[in-house]
Amino acid sequence: MSTLYAGGWIVTCDDASTEHSSGWVLVEGGVIAEVGSGEEPDADERVDLAGAVVTPGLVNTHHHLCQTLTRARAQQADLFSWLRELYPLWARIDAEAQYAAARTGLAELALSGCTTVFDHHYVFPRGREGLIEAEVQAASELGVRIVASRGSMDLGISDGGLPPDELVEELDAVLADTERLVGQLHEPGPGARVQIAVAPCSPFSVTRRLMSESATLARKLGLTLHTHLAETVEEEAYCMQLYGCTPVEYLTDLGWLGGDVWCAHCVHLSPDDVADFAGSGTGVAHCPTSNLRLGAGVAPVRELLDEGVRVGLGVDGSASNERSDLLFEVKQALLVARGRGGPGAMTAREALRLGTRGGAAALGRDDIGSLEPGKCADLAIWRTDVLELGGAEDLVAGLLFSAPHRVDRLVVGGEDVVRGGALVRADEAEIVRAQRLQARRFAA
Ligand SMILES: [Zn+2]
Repeated sequence: MSTLYAGGWIVTCDDASTEHSSGWVLVEGGVIAEVGSGEEPDADERVDLAGAVVTPGLVNTHHHLCQTLTRARAQQADLFSWLRELYPLWARIDAEAQYAAARTGLAELALSGCTTVFDHHYVFPRGREGLIEAEVQAASELGVRIVASRGSMDLGISDGGLPPDELVEELDAVLADTERLVGQLHEPGPGARVQIAVAPCSPFSVTRRLMSESATLARKLGLTLHTHLAETVEEEAYCMQLYGCTPVEYLTDLGWLGGDVWCAHCVHLSPDDVADFAGSGTGVAHCPTSNLRLGAGVAPVRELLDEGVRVGLGVDGSASNERSDLLFEVKQALLVARGRGGPGAMTAREALRLGTRGGAAALGRDDIGSLEPGKCADLAIWRTDVLELGGAEDLVAGLLFSAPHRVDRLVVGGEDVVRGGALVRADEAEIVRAQRLQARRFAA
């Protein structure tokens, strides 16, 4: 079965940043066969794009889907106070709540043009089984790709950590459960719809030993590694006090940094830290809205890009960014870069690249993130006949400057996930109702 999507503005995000203002994409067997303009190739089906903009499906590189259950809390708090208020609520999570929360966050992301979602889940209350399985099930049902992580915390408050003792796990149990999930769920090859990453939570909630053994396990199993890093000034002070060094020095000392690693936030990086990220190949998940919401600061993305660091975008959890909208995050990345470095600090197309190619690179994936022959047929199709795009000759820049927008059609591996601005495989109103029911159990 082949499908030709024709008559749209195709933004490939390939190495040469090729665009076809009136072009087409040919999809065969879930994979992109050809992209071009002019004479159209034959296909079993022809979809008229009617002047829509087509971008690669967006790639989200940092999230906590369970947090849709606890929005709009700790409204004036910095990171540590926010966490202390929310940990006890998150301790109520179970598989049923995780499933409802994941469906909500994943549906929001899909409707914002996102085809691949990384989720950093690190809350595993004792005796609650099936949390990762629940979010993987939600992603599979909705039709988006997921990179789920077996996160962890083992440094409770009585040992000098931030989380309550009842929310931390034993090191051996964490590693054994990670191996179990990899055996059950992880697809290693190109086109994977489900992958597992190893993701101890942060320097202030995980012991040195678990950080180190997580890296060893990930490298033994050929998995990617992720953690929160250098998010706030308080985190840096905490690291100085506990480990006598900055967060980046701490990870360097642990042998963590490398081409199989990406870290969330990286707001407080020195020029030396940026050089260390570049030299080691370590990637970054830039989460501008969450960083603004918690007053954490703005990551030095221009400097990271100039040094060749892999940078993707993350909406982050819904308790610190109440809207899981990745196209909006593209715009936020553009705005904060300019707020920090002036109007020349980033172009609209560079921001889009962060949300597509950059995200794929951060996750260590070369099968997604661009519209090129051989890549997965993950397409986000955006209407251009909407109120906000009138008067914009450059429809690509217009789309990004005027974000957010609901995606018109979302294709993952050649299959429709969103059509006519609505979920194809689930009922949005039903997702909302089910999530509200679960959220009642998380009231303060
Ligand atoms: Zn986070």
